[in-house]
Order: sequence, then C-alpha cells, then structure tokens
Amino acid sequence: MLAYTYINKGHFALLDKPVPELQHPHDVLVRVTLGSICTSDLHIKHGSVPRAVPGITVGHEMVGIVERVGAEVTSVRPGDRVTVNVETFCGTCFFCRQGYVNNCEDPDGGWALGCRIDGGQAEYVRVPHADQGLNCIPEGVTDEQALFVGDILATGYWAARISEIKPDDTVLIIGAGPTGICTLLCARLKQPRCVIVCEKSEERVRFVREHYPDVLVVGPEECLDLVRKHSLHGGADVVLEVAGADDTFRLAWECARPNAVVTIVALYDRPQVLPLPEMYGKNLTFKTGGVDGCDCDEILRLIASGQIDTTPLITHRFSLNEIEEAYRIFENRLDGVIKVAVTAPQ
Ligand SMILES: [Zn+2]
Ligand SMILES: [Zn+2]
Repeated sequence: MLAYTYINKGHFALLDKPVPELQHPHDVLVRVTLGSICTSDLHIKHGSVPRAVPGITVGHEMVGIVERVGAEVTSVRPGDRVTVNVETFCGTCFFCRQGYVNNCEDPDGGWALGCRIDGGQAEYVRVPHADQGLNCIPEGVTDEQALFVGDILATGYWAARISEIKPDDTVLIIGAGPTGICTLLCARLKQPRCVIVCEKSEERVRFVREHYPDVLVVGPEECLDLVRKHSLHGGADVVLEVAGADDTFRLAWECARPNAVVTIVALYDRPQVLPLPEMYGKNLTFKTGGVDGCDCDEILRLIASGQIDTTPLITHRFSLNEIEEAYRIFENRLDGVIKVAVTAPQ
C-alpha cells in the first residue's frame, strides 16, 4: 500500500509498504477513505518533534471503514464508517478515568499515531485501543463532514468546554487558522453575548467575515481596544489563544479582564514569559493545551444535527498519489488553502 513516510529531518516520501497487521486483540485495521494534513505533520517534517520515529507513516487526521477487528474489540465491526482519534488511550488508567486522555499512561497513550506508530496518510492504518479511538460516523454524515472530528475539532471542542463560557461573556479567540476556526465553532455553541476573533492574515479575516458574519474580527494592533469596547467588565471574560505566534501569549492575558479564564490551545515554538509582577492583582486562571479528545461521539452528534459544519475549511482536494503536491500547497500556504482533503488512491 502507499504510505507517506517520515524519512529524516526535512524529508517525507511516498513509499510502498505492507498493509499493517493487527498486533493486539484491541487493535482495528481501518481502510482510510479520507485524510488530511495538520501543522503537526509539518513539525515532524521540520524535525521539531523529537519523539517522532523516522520510518513511521505520518498522518493523524482521517476517517475510514473498519476492515478487520481484533478478538477483544467490542465497539465496531467490519464495514463500520469511523472517525479515528488522534489520541490513543486505554480508557482504564487514572488519567483516562478522569477524562484526561491526553495523559493516558499506556505506552501507546497520547499522540502516537503518525508520530511514534504508523499513521493514516496511507491506504490502511492500524489503530490500537480501538474501542476508545474509533467513533462510528452517523448515517447521513459524509466523510468530509467528519474529517476533523478526531483532531482539530476535538481540540476546539475541548478548548471551549474547559473555558467555562457563560451567556453574558465576551469571548476572544486569538488565531483563525484551522484549529482557531474549530474553536470558534465550538465556542459559539455556548452562545456567549459577543465573540471576537483576532487574526493577522487578510485571507483568514475574509474567511471569518464571509462564513461567520455574527463574529467581530480584528487585527492584533486594534485587538485590545475592540475587546474593551465590547466587554462589560473592561476585558474579555474568556480568552482562547490558538495562534501561538510571538506576541499572542502576551496579547491573550492583556485582553483578559480580572479573574478571566485564559485557555492556551496554541503550541509554541519557544518558551513564553509569564510576567507575574505585571499581572499581579489580575487573578487570572490559565488553562494549558494538550487536547483531551474524548468527546468525539458528542461532536459527531452536533455535526449530524447541523450545529457544527467544518466543510468550508476544506479548500483543496488531492488523491494520496498526489500527496507531495498537497503538502507543497499546505506547507507554503498557497492558493488560499486552509485544509486539504486527501482521498484514497484511485
Ligand atoms: Zn493534528
Ligand atoms: Zn489510559
């Protein structure tokens, strides 16, 4: 089968590999029908994910059809259409039982697919702990509608859930990349009185204005003023930082009102400064990133009922044979790309 593979720093290649075998009674083999490329894949390519193992098949955003199941798998059967969770988790350890599945203590726990074990930019993928990691796609929901459930939409849902958004709140979301938009969609489900998106790229600003006209959009320079103008208590009640740029951590806590919740979804390239003397008396609550992707069934229900639609994010479509080109477009942000969808080879 074709499998896009991490060779070494700076170098991925489309190789021919054997179809994966089931290794454990809780494994499932999924035939990938649609996948995508994530910024984390680029981080692996650029050598900034030390845990990534050279030789592995990359890719952790995918949906597919169950091909084969291990003897102890109970939640899915061959032929089921499923979303694949970016995180593998055992479901039984201390952290899993609290819903902190990102911190699962299993050796395969956390983000393993397409990083430490073979992932899904391939024709087939082996999913360990499949009773936890696979969710059946409801009838009537297409592959494209379900494509982001297991990763960026799970992240947006988790971020909105832990941010304690209330109806009277002004919510600021910093960053309107794919994960920022997913976070926006999930934050809006809480129906806060005002949602503001801060974004620098003109293309992305246009995208938000076009698709979500009820949301205020602002650049980083005017962000603090606009947030104050639209807040009841001198700043945002909730800030979700999804950008991870040089100054966005500072912007996040500066735009927050006293006693606000500041949720950091972003993954930074560099350490960030927490200037406690400057913040003294602001009494902020920070929540930090690492998605707990354990609400995928609920997310699929919201998609089925029309409350979440991420299909506008898919701006480009390629077959797996053309994945080099898909990476070139996505990596260099060409042609207005937001997300690509990669179909099984024809
Ligand atoms: Zn990802
Ligand atoms: Zn666990």
